[in-house]
Amino acid sequence: MKLVLLGAPGAGKGTQSTNLSVKLSVPHISTGDIFRANIRGNTPLGVEAGSYISKGLLVPDELTIGMVADRLSQPDCENGFILDGFPRTLAQADALDKLVELTAAVNIHVEDEVIVDRMSGRMVCPDCGEPYHTAYKAPVAAGICDRCGGKLIVREDDKPETVKNRLKVYHDQTAPLIGYYGEKGLLVTVDGTLAPEQVTEAILAALAERE
Ligand code: AMP
Repeated sequence: MKLVLLGAPGAGKGTQSTNLSVKLSVPHISTGDIFRANIRGNTPLGVEAGSYISKGLLVPDELTIGMVADRLSQPDCENGFILDGFPRTLAQADALDKLVELTAAVNIHVEDEVIVDRMSGRMVCPDCGEPYHTAYKAPVAAGICDRCGGKLIVREDDKPETVKNRLKVYHDQTAPLIGYYGEKGLLVTVDGTLAPEQVTEAILAALAERE
């Protein structure tokens, strides 16, 4: 299965990608995670990308497309992958079409008000990437990652002023992809306000129907 996951920031793309990656035995490729790993490693890509990410802006297409093309050329992607956070612009979608033939584009639909509410409690483990939320998925010990013991942080771009900007960028630049994939007959839309396991089930059921 070669899937892309669409949805506003905070719609649950990361959680669903992790679940689907296990169920479908294909790698989960998150452009946000790759950028953050580069920022942590202080690589040239990280330095350049970081200046956009901290403002809630998209990293330029040339940088992002090159990075994804490189990742998709690796052998573990031969039998499929789940792209989380890519494409985010029509230019990226066009570039992806030239690289691979997608099975489907899954749109996780969540209204803006719910997104703002969700993102205001988000935390993440900087060491292993596990996501948490003060209301929906609190760690057992406050501020500590259940999985690896790392000290949880609020991502710079999950701070309220940046969240507003990210939502605007989503509506302006990424939401048009819903129409793009709809026209190609690749779109599957699920209700992202259901419990995470139910969203996963809904995605798997919708994909099975298409087979
Ligand atoms: P995410 O973890 O997917 O929410 O991504 C975090 C940030 O990384 C985004 O707000 C963007 O600044 C940047 N980013 C991630 N994926 C892309 C992409 N496909 N194109 C441009 N910027 C991206």
